[in-house]
Amino acid sequence: MEKRELLYEGKAKKLYTCDDDNLLISEFKDDLTAFNAQKKGLESGKGALNCQISTHLFDLLEKEGIATHLVETLDQNHQLVKKVDIIPIEVVVRNTATGSLSKRLGIKDGLELPFVLVEFYLKDDDLNDPIICDDHCMLLNLVQKRDELEILRQKAKKINSVLKDFFAKRRLNLIDFKVEFGKDKDGNILLSDEISPDSCRFWDMDSGEKMDKDRFRQNLGSVKVAYEEVLKRILEEK
Ligand code: UDP
Repeated sequence: MEKRELLYEGKAKKLYTCDDDNLLISEFKDDLTAFNAQKKGLESGKGALNCQISTHLFDLLEKEGIATHLVETLDQNHQLVKKVDIIPIEVVVRNTATGSLSKRLGIKDGLELPFVLVEFYLKDDDLNDPIICDDHCMLLNLVQKRDELEILRQKAKKINSVLKDFFAKRRLNLIDFKVEFGKDKDGNILLSDEISPDSCRFWDMDSGEKMDKDRFRQNLGSVKVAYEEVLKRILEEK
């Protein structure tokens, strides 16, 4: 399948049309951004690492009954995906307090939460992705029916339980992550976008080291080394 027209360019990916009207080609870029793109960087090979990591995780989730947009991987940094209308909600799942949760609510950084927390953020860079509640989602017509918000929550929790166990076996603690969902032409809700160290936080269970985009956000260095280590552990047979 060949790329045709550039349909959309985001911070970490480009989407192209292809010969099939129901499919798109997603290209994973080497660009890194943080703090709503106020901080920018480039890490050669990062796109290919995220593409491989996300492919493995989406394949794993498909096997566990989570429908995804992924059709197949075309090469190191391209995936063939189903065309969906992205639901403009960033669904964040948290097992441990850190990042904006700790900042906003003063919860101690690193505190394990007593239950899995699912939050919705409006996907809107101009508004700085504000946190939103169910009524805001309905007011903004982000979904057609309130039930769909419950479906998003359930799917997000299932993804969390599969990934948390998978990474624990590989000595990585899944702290939190963000997922996006889209609707295909038949109205099915599919896990879309990506799941990678750009969109998750992983802490090494033995050293406590951060193995994700926080290395870039916090100038910790060795960004690519950490992403390579995450891929290596994903590939370990357990
Ligand atoms: N996240 C993301 N994209 C965003 C915002 C957050 O992928 O636009 C991920 C982030 O990598 C982390 C989780 O969602 O794994 C929770 O992020 P948080 O709200 O703590 O955001 P931050 O500290 O980056 O402001």
